[in-house]
Amino acid sequence: MTTPLLPTYDDVQAAAKRLEGVAHHTPVMTSRTLNELWGAEVFFKCENLQRMGAFKFRGAFNALSKFSPEQRKAGVVTFSSGNHAQAIALSARILDIPATIIMPHDAPEAKANATEGYGGKVIRYDRYSEDREQIGRDLVERYGYTMIPPFDHPDVITGQGTAAKELFEEVGELDALFSPLGGGGLLSGTALSTRALSPNCALYGVEPEAGNDGQQSFEQGKIVHIPTPKTIADGAQTQALGQLTFAIIQRDVNAILTATDAQLVECMRFMAQRMKLVVEPTGCLGFAAASHMKEQLRGKRVGIVLSGGNVDIPHFCRLLGQ
Ligand SMILES: *Cc1c(COP(=O)(O)O)cnc(C)c1O
Repeated sequence: MTTPLLPTYDDVQAAAKRLEGVAHHTPVMTSRTLNELWGAEVFFKCENLQRMGAFKFRGAFNALSKFSPEQRKAGVVTFSSGNHAQAIALSARILDIPATIIMPHDAPEAKANATEGYGGKVIRYDRYSEDREQIGRDLVERYGYTMIPPFDHPDVITGQGTAAKELFEEVGELDALFSPLGGGGLLSGTALSTRALSPNCALYGVEPEAGNDGQQSFEQGKIVHIPTPKTIADGAQTQALGQLTFAIIQRDVNAILTATDAQLVECMRFMAQRMKLVVEPTGCLGFAAASHMKEQLRGKRVGIVLSGGNVDIPHFCRLLGQ
């Protein structure tokens, strides 16, 4: 197998230029209560307050901005459990590109509705029996669409990396940074910015405990595939890392950690109660793992990426009511 050409921090800087004036420069928030509790200085990068409610707008808009006139005319297709779908639909609407989204039948209602609301055409499939990539390939062949996958694409990775770039530019170097991990677009982009702007920062990717394919891959040095995991972290129900994301993660990340659904709910509660923030379960992965190792973080400067806030409110209430 040939080594794929990996994107670099220069590409993250170019992505940041394309996103200027389009993506929000999201706030970095802190909590005195938490800092006292942990004896640390903790900075939350609030991508739950990004346009369409998650960091995925960054990668999607960056990728679509690079389309040729022919690609723009034919349109974009993607598959996603939700946030990438909304990100592609919104970016496509802004850039006047037709968008088709292949979405699992059990994707949260709020995410499907929002995707259609942004003007995307939704095609449903069964995530436990059908191959979404095959469905995508068929559409590309038939209609000349360009496929923009949710994570394993250089322009998606470098777009996602702009969130950590903003974080370091705002707060300076950190001792540790925690980022959610699904297919690895966010973590690998974050890694490019981290190694450029805070080279000695320990960088951790955090997955749901029920689906630790990234941790297994990282430890075995090869991409491990797992069945679709059952977890409330629906943004991280991926079966495997990508070629590009795995190569960057293997090179630049310190360790992959996991969090249980119960820990995610506790973190959602803290975010809502103490910080007045609605964070979706997947968005709390980094916070959950950091909470678990707070003794080791004493006296340190810690960054945590809150990756998204798209959760059905009745579902949110049911989870917090437990
Ligand atoms: C997609 C997503 C993730 C995981 O990102 P990857 O790039 O697939 O690793 C984490 N949190 C939220 C809110 C997401 O939408």
